[in-house]
Amino acid sequence: MPFDFPARPFIRRVIQVLSGASLCVVASLPGAFAAGAEPPASLAREILAQLIAINTTHAHGTTPAASALAERFRAAGFAPADVVEIAPPDHPEQGNLVVRLHGNGKAKPVLYIGHLDVVEALREDWNYDPFKLTEKDGWLYGRGTIDMKGQDAAVAATLIEMKRTGFVPDRDIIAAFTADEESTGSNGVDFLIREHRPLVDAEFAINPDGGEAGMKNGRRLYVGMQTSEKVFYTLKLTVTDKGGHSSRPTTSNPIYRLAADLARLADFHFPVHLTDTVRAYFAARARLETGQVRNDMLSVSGASPDPSAVERLSREVETNIMLRSTCTVTKISGGHAENALPQRAEAMLQCRILPGESLDSVREQIAACIADPELQISVQTPGKPSPESPLTPRIVAAVERVTRSIWPDVIVLPSMSPGATDSLYLRGAGIPSYGIDAMFDDLDDGRAHGRDERIGVGVFADEVKFTGALMREMSRAK
Ligand SMILES: [Zn+2]
Repeated sequence: MPFDFPARPFIRRVIQVLSGASLCVVASLPGAFAAGAEPPASLAREILAQLIAINTTHAHGTTPAASALAERFRAAGFAPADVVEIAPPDHPEQGNLVVRLHGNGKAKPVLYIGHLDVVEALREDWNYDPFKLTEKDGWLYGRGTIDMKGQDAAVAATLIEMKRTGFVPDRDIIAAFTADEESTGSNGVDFLIREHRPLVDAEFAINPDGGEAGMKNGRRLYVGMQTSEKVFYTLKLTVTDKGGHSSRPTTSNPIYRLAADLARLADFHFPVHLTDTVRAYFAARARLETGQVRNDMLSVSGASPDPSAVERLSREVETNIMLRSTCTVTKISGGHAENALPQRAEAMLQCRILPGESLDSVREQIAACIADPELQISVQTPGKPSPESPLTPRIVAAVERVTRSIWPDVIVLPSMSPGATDSLYLRGAGIPSYGIDAMFDDLDDGRAHGRDERIGVGVFADEVKFTGALMREMSRAK
């Protein structure tokens, strides 16, 4: 769960609107959500407890957790050939598990991905043991409960239940439980798609980690449907000079020159570029807004946005980042001694580029804005292009059906994440990927990666229900 959903000022208005009439019509969900079709919440809870108890921080690796899940799938009747434990030869501790439930072949497979690794948690920082699932006052505490062993447990329990009941989907359902999402390693989804594509090849993918479901004051507000993410790309700006004694200052001091260069960037904005997802995002949000904000959002979601609407939405950080690529200075360094003229000054320019935009063009626009022929601009971190996945009507309709069948007032919100998830590797490899999840998180108290990470007992039970219904919907040929 690497991204922070842009919601807080918006949610206050949503609450006002939702406290009135119901907004959405309840759609019926044909067959897929019939009584008895849900995996038992108790199994999901048991799996969650088992996964939490296995420390999967990067230092410990994911292989024991992958093996524990594999053992469950084999015990549930999955053929050994359909339960593949796999790790890069040079990183046997960063294990992955790929499980396949065979369908009747009417359509190409659907792939679920879920990472098993978690970020570090120190016992002394927590009120509970982070590596033991603890229930207290309606909450389930433990590292990874919301990011994302809870979702892994829901997917695993659903697959086991499908096997037990003899459910045959229209397409194979593949679930990859993976390593290295929370670290800079590449032994998880990146490794699987590069080295073992046939094992995970699919028509499209669902990544619960890229989804977000927002809740405030116990009220469920939206289920996000993430189709895209901005590309992480970092440039280094360098100015050099011959230096000298600080008692003899010169105007070519690189720190002054770099400071002047950066000052020109402070007011620079990339041009507005509205992707299909961003238009759909503003259209959905507008349904919950009122007044000027609603009109502005409707305007930018349409064919010819009003420039003044764009200007107003650009003033708010959370809407501005949806409208355009951004770059901002994150580090600066220079000089080598108190009594010497600097020979070098450097700044790090961290960019988040809209899907579909050229990284070279971004660099050229930065160079043109600064217009300093002596400034060197080099690539510090290359971008990994990740195209937007299409808002395929069949897939969007399925997510809306499942969501409304459980929560009639909750909207589905198409989204582009400013941060990155493992979906980028799949999208980059040509597999459309959707971040969808219903583990509702309190917008005022997000604890992913933090202290006393937790999920509500009821929220987890609903997540299991939602996952079961969505996996069935997504496995249909039509
Ligand atoms: Zn995550």
